[in-house]
This record gives sequence, structure tokens and C-alpha cells, in this order.
Amino acid sequence: MLEPIPFLDLQPGYQVAQSAIDAALLRVAGSGWFLLGQELAAFEAAWALHCGTAHAAGVANGLDALHLGLLALGVGPGDEVIVPSNTYIATWLAVSQCGATPVPVEPDALSFNLDATRIQAAITPRTKVVLPVHLYGQPADMDAIHAVARQHGLAVLDDCAQAHGARYKGRAVGGLADLSAWSFYPGKNLGAMGDGGAVSGGDAALLERVKVLRNYGSRIKYHNEVKGFNSRLDEIQAAVLSAKLPHLEAATAQRRVIAAQLLDGLAGADLVLPQVPTWADPAWHLFVIRHPGRDALQARLAALGVGTLIHYPVPPHLQPAYAELGHAAGDFPVAEAMHREVLSLPLWPGMSEAQVARVIAAVKASV
Ligand SMILES: *Cc1c(COP(=O)(O)O)cnc(C)c1O
Repeated sequence: MLEPIPFLDLQPGYQVAQSAIDAALLRVAGSGWFLLGQELAAFEAAWALHCGTAHAAGVANGLDALHLGLLALGVGPGDEVIVPSNTYIATWLAVSQCGATPVPVEPDALSFNLDATRIQAAITPRTKVVLPVHLYGQPADMDAIHAVARQHGLAVLDDCAQAHGARYKGRAVGGLADLSAWSFYPGKNLGAMGDGGAVSGGDAALLERVKVLRNYGSRIKYHNEVKGFNSRLDEIQAAVLSAKLPHLEAATAQRRVIAAQLLDGLAGADLVLPQVPTWADPAWHLFVIRHPGRDALQARLAALGVGTLIHYPVPPHLQPAYAELGHAAGDFPVAEAMHREVLSLPLWPGMSEAQVARVIAAVKASV
């Protein structure tokens, strides 16, 4: 029996930057300074540069990046925020944490991302923000989304948690909206050694508001302007992220090579492959196929030693957590069909050609 292929292996991402990461950990340990110091400031500057924008603010995790970003845009109780019906539930939870209501809009069936042509019908006088997600690392159609938002005077905050290194019409994701929210959860394309997140954007005043909110609503110690939160990206995580950032471009390039091999090797097989719009340079956080017999396919692949995951098995509107909104099965059929059929194949930087070939052979033998 061959060695099983895991869904994800984070070891190569450490090994490729090991000397810089180890030095970063020791540097912080020896500095005696663990929060809101020069490691954070250095990472924020590097991350803003990577995003092709002016500012970034580190926060404790991706959910907080979305939450504090929405608060900075003025979202509060009684407001509505347009969200995709097909996303990880964190996108919706951030809206709820503001006391606002997530209003789902169906994705485009091919791209999995928010369908801009359906946004208009979901807008009400209470709508404040449109919150697209670059799901699976595929950039959403931001120009079309901005056109609708502008027409109705709405802000745009994008959930970039799966899109480190993605490009839209040649421009880096992270500088394409009023604010952009990032997660550095360990399994993301740029992952910390624990939780981490950031907000990026070009508006200095908005980013300053996020920095005040993340630190108890305080700019000057013990002087509190607003009711804030404790949501800081600590110095250890900031130093680790700075050590890993120089390797992100090469890691993204490797993901693109592996995705191309999977697309090529699986062409013609009886399944739906990811579709890439001409203007998109995906980050390939996930390689998601669709198959009507998804559960049986996943079981056959497991028997062949190929790890897979489902992103995601239950859409947010059908989760018990959102029973209060009164959505029923059938309300968002495009998203529901996706949740029944999607399966994520193994893909990580450092995955060997032999492993990719085995995944292709196993999928072809199982569909
Ligand atoms: C991971 C993720 C989040 C949340 O990030 P955390 O750092 O885990 O809080 C939000 N949205 C999407 C789409 C994600 O994939």
C-alpha cells in the first residue's frame, strides 16, 4: 500500500522558510515585547505593499478582520449587508456581530462567487455594504460588483481569507475594495503559527478606525474613544508572517502549476472542473470539483488513500445558527446544489509530481 496522500501538508511551508521563521521566533522571545510593537508595524507595511495598497492593520483572526472592517464602515444594528449564499459561515457571523442582518445573494454557477447581476434585487433602504468573498482563491468580479455598489451608494468590503496572492485583471486582491479582510489561519495560503488576521485598504481614516477598535477603542493608553475590542495580531505571529511572506509568490506559482496539472489530467473525466474567467489569476487555495455522486466519490478516494474535504457541507442559511432568519431548503438552490456536489482535492505547495499524478489517477478511477 502506498503512503496515503493527505488533504493538506503544512510542513513544506515551514521547511522552505525555516531559518527565517526560527530566527523570528527567537528574536521576539528575546525582545521582551509581545504586542503592538515593531514586528507588527513591519508586517503591516509589508502586507500593504503586497496588496498594492497604502495601509494594513493586523488583528487577531479573519472573523475579527471582517467584523472590525464592517464596524469601521459604520455597519450597525438594523443595517443589512449583502453576502454570498455560498461561503464559509464566518462571512455571515461578522455581519451578525455588528447587529446587522446578512442578506444572501446566490453565486454564479460556474465561478462559485457572488453573481453581480443578482445584487440589485437584494438591495433595500437598509443595505450598507456589499461583502463579496474570493471563494477558493478565485477572485470575484469586482468591477461588476463595484458598479452596482456605486449606483446605490454602498461600500464594498471583500473577504480575502482564501485569496492571498490572487489577482483580478492584473491587480492584487487586497487593494480592490474600500476595505479587505484577511485571515492568516494556519491552513490559509499565508498562514501563521496560530490565529491571525488583517484589514487592508487605501483609506487612512478607515484603517485608523480599525486600529482603534482592535485595541479597546483606544489610541492613547487608558483613553477610550469608542467601545472597542481586544483583537491584536501578536508580535510572534507578525514576525512569523514576515518571515513567510517573501515565499508567498513562489508558493502561489507552485499552486498554479499543480492546478494546471490537475485541470489537464482530469480534462474529459466525468466531473465538473473549476472554471477560470480570463481576467482571473486564482490563488488556488482550494481545487474544488463538482460531482453528483460526491459522497461516494469521496469514500472511493479515501479507500485509495487520497484525502479530500468538503467546502462546505451545509450552507449558512440552513445552519441551526441562522434559524432566526427563517430561510428554508430550496431558498438558495444554486448554493444548495454546490454544497451537495463540491469536493476539494489535495493541493499544497511542495506536493510532489508523483502525488499529483496519483490524485489524478485515483479520481479518474473513481468517477
Ligand atoms: C478562514 C475564513 C474566514 C475566517 O478566518 P479565521 O481566521 O479562521 O477567523 C473567513 N472567511 C473565509 C471565506 C474563510 O475561509
